Amino acid sequence: MTLDTDTLKQLLDTVSKFVDNRLRPLESRVGREDAIPDDVVEEMKEMGLFGLTIPEEFGGLGLNMGEEVAVARILGHTSPAFRSIFGTNVGIGSQALVIDGTAEQKQRYLPPMATGEIIGSFCLTEPDAGSDAASVKMAAKKEGDNYRLNGAKRFITNAPRADLFTVFARTDPDQAGARGVSAFVVHAGTDGISLGNPYHKMGQQGTYVSDVIFEDVVVPADQMVGGPGKENRGFATAMKVLDKGRLHISALSVGVAERLIEDSLQYAMERKQFGQPIAEFQLVQAMLAESQTEMYAARCMIEDAARRRDTGENVAALAASCKLFATEMVGRVADRAVQIHGGAGYVEEYGIERFYRDVRLFRIYEGTSEIQKTVIARDMIRRAGG
Ligand SMILES: Cc1cc2nc3c(=O)[nH]c(=O)nc-3n(C[C@H](O)[C@H](O)[C@H](O)COP(=O)(O)OP(=O)(O)OC[C@H]3O[C@@H](n4cnc5c(N)ncnc54)[C@H](O)[C@@H]3O)c2cc1C
Repeated sequence: MTLDTDTLKQLLDTVSKFVDNRLRPLESRVGREDAIPDDVVEEMKEMGLFGLTIPEEFGGLGLNMGEEVAVARILGHTSPAFRSIFGTNVGIGSQALVIDGTAEQKQRYLPPMATGEIIGSFCLTEPDAGSDAASVKMAAKKEGDNYRLNGAKRFITNAPRADLFTVFARTDPDQAGARGVSAFVVHAGTDGISLGNPYHKMGQQGTYVSDVIFEDVVVPADQMVGGPGKENRGFATAMKVLDKGRLHISALSVGVAERLIEDSLQYAMERKQFGQPIAEFQLVQAMLAESQTEMYAARCMIEDAARRRDTGENVAALAASCKLFATEMVGRVADRAVQIHGGAGYVEEYGIERFYRDVRLFRIYEGTSEIQKTVIARDMIRRAGG
C-alpha cells in the first residue's frame, strides 16, 4: 500500500504522540522492571502497531518499505524494548508468510498477527549456527504427511510470548548449506516444544529472548512455508525477510540517534561549566555536529534504499550497507551522548546509559556488522564479474 501524504502524516503524528506522551515517561520503569505494562500492549494493539506491515486484506496497515522506515524512525525516539514486543509481528515473525506463504497460510495466520492476538517469532539461529546461518542443523525428517523436527534454536526474540514460530530446519541432510533448508510455521503449543529460561541481557530490558528446544515435534507438511512443494527453499525466504528487517533496524537506529542528539543538545545548552553552557565549547559542538551529520547520512541512505525496494529493486547489498552504517553510527552517537552528559551520562537517572546498552544489540542481530561487510563485498565482486 502507498498511503496518501495526509494519511501517512496522520499515522506518523499519532505514533509520535504515543511515543512522546505514553512511552517515554515509562522508559525508566520498563528498564527496572524488565516488563512492558499490559495496558500499554493493549493500546499498541488498538493502534494497529502489530499489523503495520501486514497487507490490508489481512487486517494490517500494509505499509510499504518507505512508510515502514518512517514509522520505525519515530519508534526509535523511545526505548527499543517497546518496539520489540510488536517488532517480530511487523518484521521477522510475519514476513516469511507475507512474502512466501500460501493463500491459506496467510488467511489463517496474518489476521491474528495483525491484531496482536498471536505473536510470531523467527527461529533461525542455533547454538552452532549463528553468522553461518546456512549451516542450521535442526533436522526436519519427512514421515508420510508430516515432518519430525529435532534440534535447538538460540536467542529467539519474543519466544517466551510467542504463539507461532517460523522455524528453519534441514529437510535434506545430504545437501550442505543453504540448499537443504526449509521453513515451517509451527504452533508454540505443539508437543515436544520447550523453552529455555529467558536470557539476562546487557540491555533492552522488557524484551524477552530465550532458546527454543524441539524434541520429536510433529509438523504437518502443509505447515511448510509456501506449501509442501516448497522443500529446500527456506533459506531464500529467510534472506528476503532479513533484507527487510535490516532496513527496519537501520531506521530504528536513526530514530534512537535523533533522540540521543536531542537529549544531548538540551543538556549541553543547560549545563554550565566555566561560567557558560557547555554547548558553547567547540569540543562539545564537534561531538554534536558529528552525531548530527552521521545521523543525517544514515537517514538519507535508508530512505533511498527503501524507495528502491518499493520500486522492485533487489536491495540486499544496500540493506546491508544501511544496517552496517546506521547501527555503527548509533553506537558512536550513544557513546558521544554519554560523553556530553559527563557523569550524568553514566548513571541510571538520566537514561543515557540505558540507551548506550540498548543500541549495542543492533550491531549483532539480524546479521553482525562483519556479516554485512561480507554481503556488501560479495555483491561488489559479483557485479564485477567475479
Ligand atoms: C538479544 C538477541 C536477540 C536475537 N533474536 C533472534 C531471533 O529472534 N531469531 C534468530 O534467529 N536469531 C536471533 N538472534 C541471534 C543473532 O542473530 C545472532 O546472535 C547473530 O547473528 C550472531 O550469531 P552468533 O551470536 O552465533 O555469533 P557468531 O556467528 O559466533 O559470531 C561471533 C563473532 O565472529 C564474527 N564472525 C562470524 N563469522 C564471520 C565471518 N565470516 N567473517 C567475519 N567475522 C565473522 C561475528 O561478526 C562476531 O563478531 C538474537 C541475538 C540476540 C543477542
